[in-house]
Amino acid sequence: MKITNKLNLPFGMVKAISTERHNADRCISATTLLQGMKQVILTARHWDGLSDDVSDRIWAIFGTTVHSLMESEGENDFTEQDISFPVKGITVTGRIDNYDMKNGVICDYKTASVWKVKFNDFEDWYKQGMIYAWLLVKNGFKAEKCRFITLLKDHSKTDASHDSSYPQQPVFVYEFDVTFDKLAEIERFIFGKVEEYIQNADKPDNDIPPCDWEEHWEKPTVYAIKKNGRKTAVKLLYTEESANEMLKTLNKDHYIEKRIGESVKCKSYCLCRNFCNFYHENVNPLETTEVTNIEESTETAA
Ligand code: SF4
Repeated sequence: MKITNKLNLPFGMVKAISTERHNADRCISATTLLQGMKQVILTARHWDGLSDDVSDRIWAIFGTTVHSLMESEGENDFTEQDISFPVKGITVTGRIDNYDMKNGVICDYKTASVWKVKFNDFEDWYKQGMIYAWLLVKNGFKAEKCRFITLLKDHSKTDASHDSSYPQQPVFVYEFDVTFDKLAEIERFIFGKVEEYIQNADKPDNDIPPCDWEEHWEKPTVYAIKKNGRKTAVKLLYTEESANEMLKTLNKDHYIEKRIGESVKCKSYCLCRNFCNFYHENVNPLETTEVTNIEESTETAA
């Protein structure tokens, strides 16, 4: 992977970026298990042809710094603990930030936006923590609890004072207990993903199915019912038909605004997108919004 430096940032920042491959041959890490399989395979296959800019890696550098500041190993604590287990001839790997062996507590440090907390958007961390727990249990260790200590990069004390649903502190702890049922469920997930990897690993690039809508962070197209003079939408609807039906019941101050959806990861965050036919065929970065006024909407509905 090539690292560019468009802003000519100091060498120390460039050096802080890891260009190490996520996965060794026939290995798949806990964090890459959470990605779409097309992304996992294309990233590994085209690693030498990928590039990223230092400025786009700034939060990764911040995250690495946070990790190294918080690393401290106690009598029963282990940091940066590597652990693995074979599944169908593939090695599933994990690196745990901190593991309290005595109490079976897995701890991971994260940086995130407050919106992750506001939207209760923890599915990825839940799976990551459970994969670590599964790896520990498979290796004969105890796993009782997962904790994610999160530094909120964009926290505002002012917003916290006005909104009780806003995280009140700039640090948030997401945690959950590990249970037998959860371990069984994550084992099914791991086996499914490894099987998907095996089925697709030798296919040509274009024959690998695209990542699914959750994996490429799809934002669906929505039809916003808007009212003249009001900033926010009156209602958001997922089909043009339902938007037109609703518009018929409203007065002439209302109109429909079509907000085109997008595959957020494909468009902005997937480093292997230039090697992906789904990206080239489906992601259109030029189209953003399209506005339909009340007359046009009535005609369409008629
Ligand atoms: S561009 Fe999108 S579909 Fe293609 S590999 Fe990346 S995330 Fe997956």
